[in-house]
Amino acid sequence: MIQQKSSAAGGEVIDAISRFLAAPPEGTPTEIIEAFNSFGDGQILPPKLFLETVEQAPVAISITDPSARILYVNQAFEKLTGYGRDDVIGHNESMLSSRSTPISVYQELWKTIQSKQVWQGTLVNHKKCQEEYLAELVISPVLAPSGEVSYYLGMHRDITSMHQLEQRLKFQKSLTEAALDAAPMVVAMITAERKVLLDNHAYKALLGDCRGVEPAGLFLDALEQQIDFDLVDACRTGKGFTNVEIRLDLAGSTAPRWFACSAVRVDELDEAAQNYFKQQEQTRYCLLLIANEVTGSRKRINEVRLNMIRASMAEQQMVETMREAISGAIFKMQVPFNIIRAALAMPGTGSDKCGVCQVLHQALESGNEAMESLQAALPSPTLEQASMVNINEILHEVMRLSTDRLLASGVVVDWRPAAVLSSVTGRPNALRGLFKYLIDNAIQAVNESGQDYREIRLQSRQVDQELVVEVMDNGPGIPDSMRLKVFEPFFCGWLRAGEHAGMGLTMAQEVIVGHGGSIEVDADFYGGCRVFVRLPVKGAGGV
Ligand code: FAD
Repeated sequence: MIQQKSSAAGGEVIDAISRFLAAPPEGTPTEIIEAFNSFGDGQILPPKLFLETVEQAPVAISITDPSARILYVNQAFEKLTGYGRDDVIGHNESMLSSRSTPISVYQELWKTIQSKQVWQGTLVNHKKCQEEYLAELVISPVLAPSGEVSYYLGMHRDITSMHQLEQRLKFQKSLTEAALDAAPMVVAMITAERKVLLDNHAYKALLGDCRGVEPAGLFLDALEQQIDFDLVDACRTGKGFTNVEIRLDLAGSTAPRWFACSAVRVDELDEAAQNYFKQQEQTRYCLLLIANEVTGSRKRINEVRLNMIRASMAEQQMVETMREAISGAIFKMQVPFNIIRAALAMPGTGSDKCGVCQVLHQALESGNEAMESLQAALPSPTLEQASMVNINEILHEVMRLSTDRLLASGVVVDWRPAAVLSSVTGRPNALRGLFKYLIDNAIQAVNESGQDYREIRLQSRQVDQELVVEVMDNGPGIPDSMRLKVFEPFFCGWLRAGEHAGMGLTMAQEVIVGHGGSIEVDADFYGGCRVFVRLPVKGAGGV
């Protein structure tokens, strides 16, 4: 009804102008006729078209005088507000105000438009039926040739539903964030380029523990090494995983942290305008990583494991001690036998008739028998299956096994593990024995130095396809002349040799060579001793 009426009114104006132009009244200034006609000369569109455009525009348009008294409203205005032209013309625009808009907004509005600027903002309006709505309004001043404001052009649309949607989105976002933050597990959304798009409180707390190193990167490195996880491929194919336990050795923390990780691919919505019509092809994916810390339960399992390791190492130690003692005895017995053999080989000796020679022969024979008995009594080395081992784990276990000795010697242990380390193929007990031996040596060294501050540093790192472990102490060090000798069997350079037979480093070397690696004493290290152990990572050699 309203529309029909307004269209009719617009039509009347247009018809009137057309009639005027068809037969301009006598005496009409030619400038006016030219001005009206200039709209239709092909350069500027005819006024009828302008009027119809405004009239039929889908946005609510009003034209007011400089005091906001309404002179004209279009069909969309009538439709949106429910007010007909007769209801509003001659009234102030304030008749639309719902009285919920703060006065400061109006003051700002008027300050802007009176200084001949365009004002844009949101007001709370009401319709004729008193229903309130949010009006997104643009007011543009229309200037007279003198430069004064002669009219204001107002254009507004109802953005209530958009605002409601925005509010709902905000609510859902804050709800999601609150739920994520309240969750005890670490949550992070990661792009294929390893950028963290979203995280939670637990993630931020872990970031603090990692001293600023992005935990997402550490998780991805560990997953890559543990299950050959490929982030880019997972984002492409959508292949996730559940409950993969990974280990992180954080700098400054004595114990490792364990996390059960799960991941699922999610769409990353593209906000770029140019991709509006290409959402399907342009969809980028990212990974939602959820990591539940299981250090507590892992610790309990490890405690039981450690006790088993302790028992098996004690057994292994006993066998090694026996092997060491018997090998030492065999080695020492070789000396007199070699002298006897040399004596018998001297010219003029060795004759069966010589009494001394007969005695020497008998001594040699019974000595050989004794040696054979000793060889037979030599326990065979413990055979152990190779498996994938984590050197950080081995080192940590060895530190735990040596805790009592370290405490008794007042040694400060500086543990500097690589946060994530590739696994190596190795014999776990043999490797434990090797590192235990190096740590025991380091304890003995700092004890012999007799200084007050005693420190042992254990460091692990990965250099390409090689793992390097450094065992360093601030004891007296190993002089250059002895650097190679220490690996010789039965060499003992300790001041207090005690039960040391000098076979430890020889056996350590045997173990490490058996793993395809190497062991050396750093010649350039001063102020103590530093031993490097190098091991190839899986596939690069080894057991
Ligand atoms: P008012 O006393 O009218 O205004 C509040 C404050 O605004 C005053 O204290 C004063 O600082 C300032 N002010 C008001 N009128 C003038 C003036 N003539 N000169 C200088 N300062 C002035 N309001 C709406 O609520 N909804 C609309 O959709 C809307 N559309 C508008 C469209 C146009 C083209 C224009 C020019 C104004 C529009 N207004 C609209 C503003 C409206 O005219 C009123 O200013 C407003 O509604 C506040 O009205 P009021 O009676 O509460 O207070």
